Amino acid sequence: MKKKFRLKKSVVKKLKVVGVILAIILGIYLFYLSQIYSLTELGYSVEASKTILFDFKKEYVLSVGENKTLNAAFESSDYKEKYLDQYTKIEYQNQKHLIRNINTLIEKGYSNDNISMILAHGNDEDVGEFAKRDKINYLEEFFSLDYAKLRNYDRYVDYSNETGEDNETTVLAVNLDMDKENYEDPIIISEFSTDMLVNKHRSLEKDFVPDDLVSIDEEYAADDTQSASRIAVNAFMKMYKAAESEGYHLVINSSYRSYQDQEETCNTYRGLYGDNYVTNYVAMPGFSEHQTGLSFDIGSRDSNIFAESDEYEWIQENAHKYGFIQRFPEKYEAITGFRAEPWHYRYVGEKIATYIYENNISFEEYYAIFLDTNE
Ligand SMILES: [Zn+2]
Repeated sequence: MKKKFRLKKSVVKKLKVVGVILAIILGIYLFYLSQIYSLTELGYSVEASKTILFDFKKEYVLSVGENKTLNAAFESSDYKEKYLDQYTKIEYQNQKHLIRNINTLIEKGYSNDNISMILAHGNDEDVGEFAKRDKINYLEEFFSLDYAKLRNYDRYVDYSNETGEDNETTVLAVNLDMDKENYEDPIIISEFSTDMLVNKHRSLEKDFVPDDLVSIDEEYAADDTQSASRIAVNAFMKMYKAAESEGYHLVINSSYRSYQDQEETCNTYRGLYGDNYVTNYVAMPGFSEHQTGLSFDIGSRDSNIFAESDEYEWIQENAHKYGFIQRFPEKYEAITGFRAEPWHYRYVGEKIATYIYENNISFEEYYAIFLDTNE
């Protein structure tokens, strides 16, 4: 007969007590998990949910519902209980020091709407810098425009005082660095894209070469030395054929020019016509759109003066369908910094070209409104 294994009564009692304690702990833990779960279901992160539970703010959070700024507050060590209601009313932005900056802005006396507006007009660093300054006077005047930038505020005020321009013109002009001298302290561009902006404030690196540079078949050009970005060349060939089918004869007179080519061009024109001419009509090396490989100087096969040719009339009405814009029209001389060049066309793609054609704006304005970011 086997000997039965038996625990002593006192041991059994202790085990029962341990079991009950474990069951209680498990129960509490499951309850805790279910609480976290109910908050994550509502859109709060696990990290935020823990703080919400430990600070006994679950009821409050449930009454608010999903709120990204509140979530960020509970995730942040900067969160202040007295500002909870304000957090819920301020529009969330994905910024590292969001809550710390909100606290500072509340303390400076900005309203919730003002703070939402401030946060939307800069990156984390811009907002941090802005929060350090005294409360500003013309917040809504400038920042009701989507494309206004916090970091440019002082320049907006100066420009508007100096020129008397309206807020919209001021913000566009300053964002385009028109408050600076031409060629002064330019932004340096190294990456190719069909919507890149190159002008007297935005220069290409000396060794910048467009992606996909291809030579242009002599059929389309005045000589066999022309080259440009493939995407622009393909678009030009389509436009060329469309024009041809309607009896108009286009020709490329100039296309991609390297930094060194542009240097030579400048020197040639300087020798011929002097400094003034170069300043107005020729871009300095690095500042020419021809270096992007997206620009063409277009002529007519049948006329020496393009602006007076039938081809010019045709291209004005049709270029946008093929992704081209006339880059330096007379009406935008003040914005582009170049005298009118009826022959200079730039590939920007059909979407942008059509918008510019339909809305009568310069590429500079399009860039400032739609393409420029706060990065
Ligand atoms: Zn040109």
